[in-house]
Amino acid sequence: MKFIPVNEPLLGKKELKYVTDCIKTGWISSKGEYINKFENKFAEVCGVKYGISTTNGTTALHLALASLGIGKGDEVIMPTFTMIATAYAVLYTGAKPVFVDSEERTWNMDTSKVEKLINKNTKAILPVHIYGHSVDMDPLRKLARKYDLYLVEDAAEAHGAEYRGERCGSLGDIGCFSFYGNKIITTGEGGMIVTNNRKITEKARLLKDLAHSPGKRFLHSELAYNYRMTNMQAAVGLAQVEQINKFIRKKRKIAQTYKENLKGVKGLRLPVEEKWVKNVYWMYAILIEKGFGITRDKLMTELAEEGVGTRAFFVPMHRQPVIVNNGICDKKTSYPVADDIAERGLYLPTGMTLREKDIVTVCNKLREIQQK
Ligand SMILES: *Cc1c(COP(=O)(O)O)cnc(C)c1O
Repeated sequence: MKFIPVNEPLLGKKELKYVTDCIKTGWISSKGEYINKFENKFAEVCGVKYGISTTNGTTALHLALASLGIGKGDEVIMPTFTMIATAYAVLYTGAKPVFVDSEERTWNMDTSKVEKLINKNTKAILPVHIYGHSVDMDPLRKLARKYDLYLVEDAAEAHGAEYRGERCGSLGDIGCFSFYGNKIITTGEGGMIVTNNRKITEKARLLKDLAHSPGKRFLHSELAYNYRMTNMQAAVGLAQVEQINKFIRKKRKIAQTYKENLKGVKGLRLPVEEKWVKNVYWMYAILIEKGFGITRDKLMTELAEEGVGTRAFFVPMHRQPVIVNNGICDKKTSYPVADDIAERGLYLPTGMTLREKDIVTVCNKLREIQQK
């Protein structure tokens, strides 16, 4: 029995050719032509002017916030339902993350709950496009304008996704991406921030490279970081981004095939695509309803026994020991939607190498387990 993994990158001749070029020419570190090429091409794909590569998505988020001068005493409003990296990035700056519950349909941050959390310390809103579906950005853009806040997108799961015809990552002041091995395009480990703002770009370039003084190398007037991507990673990234449209089509095709094959299965909530977005279905995520018959965890265990990899939904931030035990979030606030989906959600195999017949297999096994 062949195991169907939850994810697998698609790497080919082009990636090999570009990486080989780095090795042959000796340009393996963070200088070299692939860095600029990858940054420019990825920014172009996002529809923005500048791309600044980083070591991973977590550092991209941190660099974005640091470049905006966010720090101690500041508050950043973000969803509770996300990956821990979003909250860590806020905490690295010394600022306080303020959590918002999810909306039921898209599982994204409920934008109607943001305004009442804004106070004089609030500096930024940090929405996350969960599983490839864009957050409803217009209400957030309005709030950002009204209260003079920065808008930073965590688009780590939303390469190429669109909101009202514009690409995720281009919808606020800064967009942050990850190129981890399971993301829509990958560099192994890697990340990038994208922006139209030249000042932010200059600041980010300074901070990601130890903040050498402009006129004098090895003289430093502020605390900075080494978040430099290597030319080898960028070589893989360039090869990947040159195929991004194919990858997005593939993800959408996977989603379509799941939808067709899961039709009529009782007790499943399939992912939505609001009229105003293009969902890139980073992961094909579903909810197990009461009517399904068995719990999410039981289904995951049985699918694993049948050779199908799945993952449970994220544990929300307000349930994370590192957050709760450090007094970062108020224990009295409840987040019923995030709690509910975290208990019931899982995602099915959505890798780039998945074949149509694999999807059919997954769906058949899921039905069989239900009917046992
Ligand atoms: C993957 C991911 C990140 C972090 O990216 P890394 O490259 O793993 O550091 C951040 N936010 C979200 C929503 C992610 O899915």
